[in-house]
Amino acid sequence: MSISQNLEAILARIAAARKAAIAPAPATHLVAVSKTVPHEGIRETIGCGQRLFGENRVQEAQSKYPQLKAEFPDLELHLIGPLQSNKVKEAVVLFDVIQSLDRIKLADALAAERDKSGKCPRLLLQVNTGEEPQKAGVVPQEVEALIAHAHKLDLPLEGLMCIPPADDDAAPHFAFLAKLARDHGLKNLSMGMSGDFELAVKFGATHVRVGTAIFGARQPIAT
Ligand SMILES: *Cc1c(COP(=O)(O)O)cnc(C)c1O
Repeated sequence: MSISQNLEAILARIAAARKAAIAPAPATHLVAVSKTVPHEGIRETIGCGQRLFGENRVQEAQSKYPQLKAEFPDLELHLIGPLQSNKVKEAVVLFDVIQSLDRIKLADALAAERDKSGKCPRLLLQVNTGEEPQKAGVVPQEVEALIAHAHKLDLPLEGLMCIPPADDDAAPHFAFLAKLARDHGLKNLSMGMSGDFELAVKFGATHVRVGTAIFGARQPIAT
């Protein structure tokens, strides 16, 4: 299957899942996750009309996207991987949305960079819904304090993101994230990947993050 056929099939599946959902989000956007995908694959995807992309590493995104963003001004890039405080400056330059805000210190660094540069990407808070020790994201008990802190700093917080534990049924995690967003008046919900994006749509995802179902299996890259 080509990228264009994969994209078409996924968009059709998202549309069908929205139709079947009781309360779908007003819109569900496809974030094409292009980590490890070389330039040609990304260009092919842009050629199919896709404009929304996600990368999980600042450095890799820096090597691929500045040129593409100059060429395609309507291209939108989301950071979906963990962000170290010392990479905030670069991230703020390159990304339109950072989906991985997960700690007070990072919120402070983003606010400081905003005050210096006048620029701040839109933000989602990553929630570690499975409370996995090795995984990024704020644990549920600390979500409220982090949201309050982001509001105090006047950061553009738009929603929540989660990556359920690989071996769990994703449904309760999606339901939990959706309720958390509702309770805090946040409108965006980034959840669902290649294996479960239709389920996420059912629970109100505004953004699904899909990599392998578009680009095929990832080759391990040297780091
Ligand atoms: C890689 C990645 C995805 C996409 O995963 P696929 O299973 O390839 O669709 C989604 N979200 C995050 C945070 C990722 O790192």
